[in-house]
Amino acid sequence: MVEVLKGLHSMDHSEAGNHQMESWILDCDDCLILIDGGMRQKALDNIEAELREMSKEWADVSLILITHKHGDHIQNLARLVELTGAPVKAHELEAPLIKEAVGVYVEGLEDKAVLGYCGGIEVIHVPGHSEGNACYYLPALKAVIAGDTIFGDDEGNINPPPERYCLDVDQATKEIKRLLDYEFDHILFTHGKDIMGDAKAKVQELVDRFC
Ligand SMILES: [Zn+2]
Repeated sequence: MVEVLKGLHSMDHSEAGNHQMESWILDCDDCLILIDGGMRQKALDNIEAELREMSKEWADVSLILITHKHGDHIQNLARLVELTGAPVKAHELEAPLIKEAVGVYVEGLEDKAVLGYCGGIEVIHVPGHSEGNACYYLPALKAVIAGDTIFGDDEGNINPPPERYCLDVDQATKEIKRLLDYEFDHILFTHGKDIMGDAKAKVQELVDRFC
């Protein structure tokens, strides 16, 4: 079990030869939220194992949040909905695209919407990687779930997402600055080493590099 911050569990679904592929479970008193669901059976197995270690089961998952529409984040979604019965939410520009890709209903969220769970979870729309790419801000933990908005490496360096994965790499790079409107110490990435502690200064450096 990997609990990176109180109630926030990180799982790495990478397989031999693949880059890191993280998703998360957020566990607070009244809910259990899965953020992104991976793309293969291994991710399903990892999530199930994590839930079991938390003494939870699939049916305890009360919400699935998705950062964006790319396959490594949503390919398991239909199966996850079957297993959990949980509603799925994503940014309003991304929701119909995810529905089209995997055939499950996805409720759209507006930029800056605050979900009333776990001390409030705020949607931060950062377009460019995809249309409705979103980060989720967890003020109670002073953490940002960044998904693919920023890519890390194994050494703790951070960069904008690579052009080949982006709808519009210039926009994806320029809009990272939206994160600086929030107070956070930690930032967690799908790909690459998370930054735990003093993360906002690192993101500020990243933004300054591309100004
Ligand atoms: Zn992506």
